[in-house]
Amino acid sequence: MSSTKHVAVIGGGILGVSTAVHLLRGGASVTLLTEQGLASEATGRSLSWLNSAGERSTPYHQLRLAGVDRYRTLFAADPTREWLQFGGGLMWNAAGQREVTEARHAYEQSIGYDSKLLAPEEIASVTPGIDASAVPENAIFNPGEGWVSLPDLVNFLMEEFHALGGQLVLNAGKVQVTLDGGRASGVETASGETYSADVVLVACGAATPAVVKPLGVEIPNGSPVSMLVVTKPVEHQVKAVMNTPRAAVRPNPGNTFALDHDWYEDRITEHADGSFSIPDEVVQELADESSKLIAGNPELKPASWKIGYKPIPGDGEPVFGELGQVPGCFVAFTHSGATLGLIAGELLSGEILTGKKHPMLATFRPGRFS
Ligand SMILES: Cc1cc2nc3c(=O)[nH]c(=O)nc-3n(C[C@H](O)[C@H](O)[C@H](O)COP(=O)(O)OP(=O)(O)OC[C@H]3O[C@@H](n4cnc5c(N)ncnc54)[C@H](O)[C@@H]3O)c2cc1C
Repeated sequence: MSSTKHVAVIGGGILGVSTAVHLLRGGASVTLLTEQGLASEATGRSLSWLNSAGERSTPYHQLRLAGVDRYRTLFAADPTREWLQFGGGLMWNAAGQREVTEARHAYEQSIGYDSKLLAPEEIASVTPGIDASAVPENAIFNPGEGWVSLPDLVNFLMEEFHALGGQLVLNAGKVQVTLDGGRASGVETASGETYSADVVLVACGAATPAVVKPLGVEIPNGSPVSMLVVTKPVEHQVKAVMNTPRAAVRPNPGNTFALDHDWYEDRITEHADGSFSIPDEVVQELADESSKLIAGNPELKPASWKIGYKPIPGDGEPVFGELGQVPGCFVAFTHSGATLGLIAGELLSGEILTGKKHPMLATFRPGRFS
């Protein structure tokens, strides 16, 4: 049965693409449909820091660790890929928060998460290219963390998708799930084309709650608006992802940087046509804040910036699995979809192909909202 299953996947972000490729590996036939191009939403504008830093529920932590593990396997197969690197993560808090940073470090140590608490002058001994004078008190270095450029990962996975015979439908508009006797029977594109399927996966990022709503399924949506800036190329030695009070910075292919933060969210305007804008000076301010973190303080020039919703379920926890009310319809909707991208595709495809529920997804079922 599993080798002949036909699955329609809605959404060309990392979760849809990863699950589609894992399904093809498992012998399914797959049609992947997406509204515009691949990686057109969050996946195309993600900081994509691979981590399980800080404090969260144990099942979520375990899933994230498995997520990082799958990236490590991919990295080990070819460590020269410019779009997937493990240079660690460096974080610090604002002045006056020394004890908060110490408590975070103590917690990370207590669960065996590799964590080093450092004075500013110790940073150069663990990671290069940082301006330690930007660190007011202390910092945490997490050596096991990394980063990925998701658009590159999507391109990489899509080579396998095509090699395994997947069918790709771009510019499908807003695709809907079709039903037959209460069960998912396939999908319908905005122009009315229909594709029948044994199983449908809704992996529509921040739009996931809107796509399942007509099926009578409520999934609370907590997705904020966010922005990712990519700089012009600049000489630098930075290897770590930096999370700091005024800027998050990661290396990006081509000697560029990817920058984001949340302090400017209220400066973003959403227009009636669904587009977003932000004053240019806010973009430059983020670049200037980021420059202060890098040794030599190189001038950072924004090359592009993308704004849109960052997918976050209402309760902050991932939503993975089959809808209780709509057999045959699965969802994948999560924060930290970069870290979870490979593992979520692996576990969900296993559930779809075998019908067996994976224990690591047990606390993340969509049924918790009904
Ligand atoms: C600024 C920013 C920083 C981030 N930082 C990190 C980080 O450091 N670490 C981390 O792990 N994660 C991070 N994330 C989160 C991560 O990038 C996302 O969770 C992940 O990219 C989501 O992938 P997705 O496939 O679920 O959704 P998306 O990439 O949003 O893809 C959904 C796709 O579905 C399509 N679609 C939507 N509705 C329909 C429809 N009705 N019909 C057809 N197609 C439809 C969209 O066009 C889109 O292509 C960050 C995200 C942002 C935006």
